[in-house]
Amino acid sequence: PFRRSARIDAVELSEILKISELADALKREGRDVISLGTGEPDFPTPAPVIEAAHKAALAGETTYTLTAGRLPLRKAIGEACQRENGYRPETGEIIVCTGAKQVLYNAFAATLDPGDEVLIIAPYWTSYPDIITVCNGKPVVLPTTAETGFRITPEQLRGAIGPKTRWLLLNSPSNPSGAAYAKDDLEALAEVLRDTPHVGIMVDEIYQHISYVPFHSFRAVAPDLADRTLIVNGVSKSYAMTGWRIGWGIGPKRLISAMVAVQSQITSGASSVSQAAAAAALEGDQQLLAERCDDFRDRRDMMVAALSATGVLDCPSADGAFYLFPGCARAFGKTTAKGRRIETDADFCEALLEEEGVALVPGRAFGTPGHIRLSYAYSRASLNEAATRIARFCANLK
Ligand code: PLP
Repeated sequence: PFRRSARIDAVELSEILKISELADALKREGRDVISLGTGEPDFPTPAPVIEAAHKAALAGETTYTLTAGRLPLRKAIGEACQRENGYRPETGEIIVCTGAKQVLYNAFAATLDPGDEVLIIAPYWTSYPDIITVCNGKPVVLPTTAETGFRITPEQLRGAIGPKTRWLLLNSPSNPSGAAYAKDDLEALAEVLRDTPHVGIMVDEIYQHISYVPFHSFRAVAPDLADRTLIVNGVSKSYAMTGWRIGWGIGPKRLISAMVAVQSQITSGASSVSQAAAAAALEGDQQLLAERCDDFRDRRDMMVAALSATGVLDCPSADGAFYLFPGCARAFGKTTAKGRRIETDADFCEALLEEEGVALVPGRAFGTPGHIRLSYAYSRASLNEAATRIARFCANLK
């Protein structure tokens, strides 16, 4: 009776999970493994945020909340949006979900019918195609390369939109490439989208506060498209709150109410205590966002320099997030110190893990083979040690 449904069968075990399982197995054997594979900030959640959650729990904020999210949090989200992005969504335009991931899920579940297409841009966050598939949609991948800074061009977008396209999904700054769309880039894409009124625009801005170039929210750049734009954001990355599971969507009321209907039958709403914590984060000291961003920038520079110096990895810098996405094609056709032949990005990652104990994720997991993804949200000591091992691995290739 428990055969997998066709739509779940199409979802593959994440490549990131496979690598972390192999890394864990090696650790259990007593090997010293450095994992630069996962995507969460290494900072703690700010103490006042934790105190606010404690206080809220003691004050009885432990019951079901409104399905769309508590009003004080939605007010704080509106105010933060005004302060940071220059527009003020109404309460009815905001839904609070269990992480940004559930915003994506709710939106696709609420809008996709079988055969509907969603344009996603490779390299993409691994969950995008899987969430779309689970929601009966068809991911359509638009490839990009390092030469175009891992950004799509307006012409590429125009050529990709068809009658079945329901959404374009953008992510800026991007996981895994770190690429961000400048204001001009967004304006040019908006110009194309004005001609295609059947297409919704979902913009995942979860890395807004980890941006080393000026950040522009799509809704501020193209306010005339607000009635078909869904902005996805949350506290996970910006305030180091991945475990609290709070994200939100900002979009037209008709869409938000359909998403609330989905959410009402999945979770009934996000955790009450986490919602109090998220409101405290948005209303508290914002200075730490800039400080943490500077710290990430410093680590980015350190790793770009180290990886470029290998002479094997092609490592462009990144505009934001905390990932690097270097090309590893120069290693192809070569043999490692222990005699493993490297033909693919997956071979590179597997050999690096087996021989030097460094866990990275192959680019094919993000729809872009020939690259590897490294997260630099780790201590400088770990990063330095990983860089030394990667350099040795590369130097030994013959
Ligand atoms: N969007 C992107 C691009 C991400 O990289 C991640 C987490 O890795 C998420 C969304 C998920 O965020 P949350 O933890 O709030 O669900």
